[in-house]
Amino acid sequence: MKFIDEYRDPVAAGHCLDAIRRLVTRPWTLMEVCGGQTHAIVRFGIDEMLPSGVTLLHGPGCPVCVTPLEKIDRAIALASRPDVIFCSFGDMLRVPGTDRDLLSVKASGGDVRIVYSPLDALKVATANPDKQVVFFAVGFETTAPGNAMAVFQARRAGIPNFTVLVSHVLVPPALEAILGSPKCRVQAFLAAGHVCAVMGYAEYLPIAAKYKVPIVVTGFEPLDILQGIYLCLKQLEEGRAEVENQYTRVVSKQGNRPAQALVADVFTVVPRAWRGIGEIPRSGLGLSDAYADFDAEQRFDLSAVGPRPEPAECIAGLILQGLRMPHECTAFGGRCTPEHPLGATMVSSEGACAAYFRHRRVAGGQAATL
Ligand code: SF4
Repeated sequence: MKFIDEYRDPVAAGHCLDAIRRLVTRPWTLMEVCGGQTHAIVRFGIDEMLPSGVTLLHGPGCPVCVTPLEKIDRAIALASRPDVIFCSFGDMLRVPGTDRDLLSVKASGGDVRIVYSPLDALKVATANPDKQVVFFAVGFETTAPGNAMAVFQARRAGIPNFTVLVSHVLVPPALEAILGSPKCRVQAFLAAGHVCAVMGYAEYLPIAAKYKVPIVVTGFEPLDILQGIYLCLKQLEEGRAEVENQYTRVVSKQGNRPAQALVADVFTVVPRAWRGIGEIPRSGLGLSDAYADFDAEQRFDLSAVGPRPEPAECIAGLILQGLRMPHECTAFGGRCTPEHPLGATMVSSEGACAAYFRHRRVAGGQAATL
């Protein structure tokens, strides 16, 4: 298959691993930002092929995982209303709220619909003028342009029964939060290629310079990731801290300017709580004043749904910051499984706990049976 098999070629991967082994002279700790990269790393066993001493930590780049519990509870409250059709990408339906998830709302009669695009939610609104249609707008910079387009079109077409429940997050402030922590172990980042396809990578330049940390924009196939790791390690071994672009077939320095302009029109930068991590300043997007009419949190009274504590034994917040690994959670593979998740990192297709459960099958350090 063109553009897939080429990036999974085992011979080329072997050459890349040999180059990494020749390069490394001491231990280094890297973090891949994106949950999609985490799944590729665990699925293909990339971390286990690296020289001992080279450690990959799994970062916060799983949008489902970092959507705060309060926002999930608000989604559930909205979806439970008889006058609402609640539209969402499918991976949000199993994310546990405080007491239940969206799938259980659907099972008990709530009108919860899986859509594959926010524009599909707009069509639902047009077809159901007697209902309020709410779309759950989550994700990083990658999904923001599509969600912005839906709101833009709703205003232009004058669709009055459409709103969005927004929980967008931004990558650069999260990297700064990780790097600013006294517990930070990360010495280099594999940045998420798809985020940079939209945003470019210029905004990473001051972060690399300030924290003296290499940042390599990296794709998602095994050879992309191995090459990204090689470029990070080469910088570290040579004492450099620069932004490099491994994903040149997709990413440019300036990114997608029309998409950025649309996002800047519809959204504004806001503080955002990250599930298990806490609030990070200027790390989210909310609707700008010009589009406030489309904000579900303004149209509906959700004041009864406030911040809630996470399940005590779930350490997903520490995992998302690279401070713990999934199999170090005492609930992993026992009380917490994809069928019965305690935390979002076990249910999301980009969650680190789900990756370990699916591909590595360890529980408490022991081989687990499924
Ligand atoms: S295994 Fe489950 S309980 Fe443990 S950190 Fe992951 S999601 Fe949370």
